Amino acid sequence: MTQPDITGRTRVVGVIAHPVEHTLSPPMHNAEFRRLGLDWVYVPWDVAPEHLPAAVAGLRALGVAGFNVTIPHKQAVIPLLDQVEYEAEIIGAVNTVTCEGGVLTGFNTDMSGWQEDIQQDISLEGRSVCLVGVGGAARAISVGAYRAGAPRLVLAHRPEDLSQADTLAAHLREKCRGASVETVSLDSPACRDAVRSCEVVVNATPVGMASCPGLPLPAEWLHAAQYVYDVIYTPAETELMRAARALGCSVRGGLGMLARQGAMAFKLWTGTAPDPLAMEATLRRQLGI
Ligand code: NAP
Repeated sequence: MTQPDITGRTRVVGVIAHPVEHTLSPPMHNAEFRRLGLDWVYVPWDVAPEHLPAAVAGLRALGVAGFNVTIPHKQAVIPLLDQVEYEAEIIGAVNTVTCEGGVLTGFNTDMSGWQEDIQQDISLEGRSVCLVGVGGAARAISVGAYRAGAPRLVLAHRPEDLSQADTLAAHLREKCRGASVETVSLDSPACRDAVRSCEVVVNATPVGMASCPGLPLPAEWLHAAQYVYDVIYTPAETELMRAARALGCSVRGGLGMLARQGAMAFKLWTGTAPDPLAMEATLRRQLGI
């Protein structure tokens, strides 16, 4: 399908990231704009951290309809916005901004994209959820799990990430009232039992990507009654997913989360509900899977 002409009426959205070459969002959104006959275009912008305030001011002045925000700007963008929606504020990170009448509002659709994706398979109500990794994805997913009814969160981290884990745990204890939040180092003898005691295990680290091969935790810590979600979307099946499937676990990878967070941003900007499955199909084509 060809790109329609860009005219003076075309609405513009995009993504700010650094680097930005790897992003799959432009083809995902642009294919959906074309499919729905919307005169919109989605473009990538490489914004170095020191240029973030000027870039956000520029996007506001240019009158874009909104933009996505990804690594490394998801937290730094917050003070540059006029308002932040409740869930994004609890998470402390923004991945989607709307710009209506010059007012910039921040949202976090990573959280709701993950919730919607995993809840196709399993309800989180009353479940214990173990997150491996304590970075940006873990932050959004832990709040998402709590808000979807998970009363217990276990944060499994590398020993060198202890202070990052403690910071996230303190944040969750403050923002997610009533949740039980535990931290456990992946090298501690208690970690195996802590992981095994959770019904849902989420990999929120880059471990399993081609650039970071391996397993984020020993496969023998898992058991067949567990549900394993891997946020990684390339490769489509990670070592963790393969090992968990072989043990009899239910398994899902992160491609649906990527499509669904994008679909939610699309709806916020355009007011039109896209088809997340069509967006996921575009991602699959882009990735050749
Ligand atoms: P991040 O903020 O850098 O966090 C990654 C976390 O994993 C950090 O706590 C990091 O520790 C930790 N980590 C790295 N290697 C580890 C290891 N070997 N064992 C245990 N922990 C390790 O990155 P992020 O934004 O959370 O992204 C994490 C992954 O999720 C990436 O692969 C990203 O592509 C994916 N993701 C997917 C989606 C989706 O829609 N499916 C959305 C967001 C992110 P250090 O800080 O010490 O390095």
